[in-house]
Amino acid sequence: MGRIFNFSAGPSILPVEVLEEASRQLVDYNNSGMSLIEMSHRGKIYDEVHSGAIVLVREILQVPDDYEIIFIQGGATLQFGMVPMALLTADSSADFVVTGTWAKKAYQDARLIGNAQIIWDGADEKYRRIPSIDELSLHDDAVYVHICSNETIDGIQWQQLPDTGGIPLIVDMSSDIMSRPVDWNKVSMLFAGTQKNLAPAGMALVIMKKSLVGKARKDIPAYLRYDLHANENSLYNTPPTFTVWMTNLTLHWLKRIGGLPEIEKRRDRKAAMLYDAIDNSGGYYTSPVDKNSRSTMNVVWHMPDEQLENKFVNDAEKEGLSGLKGHRSVGGLRASIYNAMPVEGVQTLVEFMHRFMEKHG
Ligand SMILES: *Cc1c(COP(=O)(O)O)cnc(C)c1O
Repeated sequence: MGRIFNFSAGPSILPVEVLEEASRQLVDYNNSGMSLIEMSHRGKIYDEVHSGAIVLVREILQVPDDYEIIFIQGGATLQFGMVPMALLTADSSADFVVTGTWAKKAYQDARLIGNAQIIWDGADEKYRRIPSIDELSLHDDAVYVHICSNETIDGIQWQQLPDTGGIPLIVDMSSDIMSRPVDWNKVSMLFAGTQKNLAPAGMALVIMKKSLVGKARKDIPAYLRYDLHANENSLYNTPPTFTVWMTNLTLHWLKRIGGLPEIEKRRDRKAAMLYDAIDNSGGYYTSPVDKNSRSTMNVVWHMPDEQLENKFVNDAEKEGLSGLKGHRSVGGLRASIYNAMPVEGVQTLVEFMHRFMEKHG
């Protein structure tokens, strides 16, 4: 089989077992004579897949009973607008910690709806670190605080989520969902586009405290209403059935290999291998981010000049190491090492980094 190691930031690598299972079942799902993606989303067969995925999310992330688990099309970007449309008004305010490109986009959308306030901005420091909790002065009257737990482009990650006291914390976990447990004492809502750590693109996983769902506006178009999605078990309209199916398969895979404890072990091992390769390169590879804010999902680094970086990307590609170019807005290199990236993939990359440095360093 000609599988390569795909370090793309998203859509991104999926467990090969998941792809194989899907391809085995694609044409004729469980001897039903048709594909799951050709079936009614109101039928029994689809419902098992759909409800099964929701049950697995609850189990793996230990989601308490007073939270709703919802699937919504439109990815994380729709959530940037949908959250303020549901929870913010022209005369109420929300706090934003702008740690990078993605938190900034959420802020920009919220600003159209209500009084969005930046309480910390890493732009002047080129988004190289996560602030400490005492750098954040929350507004008492904020209806929520928005953070992005892992900045996919800038390669920084909250090591611990902040405690925002009585103000609901809303977290964009698109690129580190299912890579770490969630402290439900701190988090009132999270959302994540599925194409980083769960499934193909086409959907966001939303987990939201029931009390917050209760506060969400109801005088807005139906699709934007969290209460409708929650009350209809994410079947208010036709869900993206293929993406839900793949989410189900990925969660089964995750559970089978040992759940979050095993994922965390692999995650830390992979991240340590890459950061060690950078730190031990005598300055040939350099990390632009602060050590205590380093992402375990998206590892970014630079090389002495852009020409070398391009050569690195091209040579790596030839050896089956794909998707290593940094985001166009920041340049450099980036290796996305999501849950599905095997340890061997990172091992192969690190060996390539050593060889490249010996040859061109
Ligand atoms: C990819 C990403 C998004 C955007 O997700 P879409 O599904 O493309 O809308 C938002 N936030 C973070 C942290 C991301 O990594």
